[in-house]
Amino acid sequence: MPAPRVYKTEAIVLRQRKLGEADKIITLYTPNYGKLEAVAKGVRRPKSRLGGHLEILTYTSAMLAQGRNLDVVTQAQVIESFAPVRDDLDRLSRALYAAELVDRFSPEGAESYHIFQLLLATLRRLAGGAGADVVLRYFEMQLLNVAGFQPQLHHCLGCQRPLTPVPNYFSPAAGGVLCSSCGAGTVSSRPLSVSALKVMRLLQDGAFGNVSRVRIGSRLAQEVEFHLRAYVIHVLERDVRSAAFIDRLRREGIGEPAGVSD
Ligand SMILES: [Zn+2]
Repeated sequence: MPAPRVYKTEAIVLRQRKLGEADKIITLYTPNYGKLEAVAKGVRRPKSRLGGHLEILTYTSAMLAQGRNLDVVTQAQVIESFAPVRDDLDRLSRALYAAELVDRFSPEGAESYHIFQLLLATLRRLAGGAGADVVLRYFEMQLLNVAGFQPQLHHCLGCQRPLTPVPNYFSPAAGGVLCSSCGAGTVSSRPLSVSALKVMRLLQDGAFGNVSRVRIGSRLAQEVEFHLRAYVIHVLERDVRSAAFIDRLRREGIGEPAGVSD
């Protein structure tokens, strides 16, 4: 929806970059206007009234005015700052990853109330002390769903037959699971255990409350992370602007987990 000349919106701050001497360009994710960039003037000055209300990952209420190129933030007020996330480097890095993924998956101006709600819920879960791994996997899978890239986890993408509870294969290039006959020897497909497929289906179809109650051992968690990460990278590779982010994901990414290598 096009924004009026002066408008108020809730937003989560995804990113910031410096502009000129004292300003910043802030990337916001809003419930009704999707992702947008706006100028925050003077926020790098120590006495700025705006600065503290536009920190990265802050859930804020902002007043914006349409500018010739970019809109300008005229007022902002923190709604939630997710302090426990900022005090814990591990949770902070995961929250930043979630914000960056939303940024990468969202074209400017394409509104998605679901993505806004998903990011907000993810930040609240990280701040509230839920298991950070399961929070992130759930976020990744749900973001893929909402963005229209949900992997196929119920039938084989080769022969179209329903999957049976035997070790199958996960293929990012195919867009999901290949059965034990179709997946064997296929480039880019990796063995997928029965348990990992169950967990991935639960992440795709289940409510977070149900997913978070399931006990997932570290090896299984690693396998699920490996497949989801590979799939996210595959989807993002179509977007050349994401090249640096993909390199970082690869560098930070886990190696192929034990028992999943071919
Ligand atoms: Zn098949």
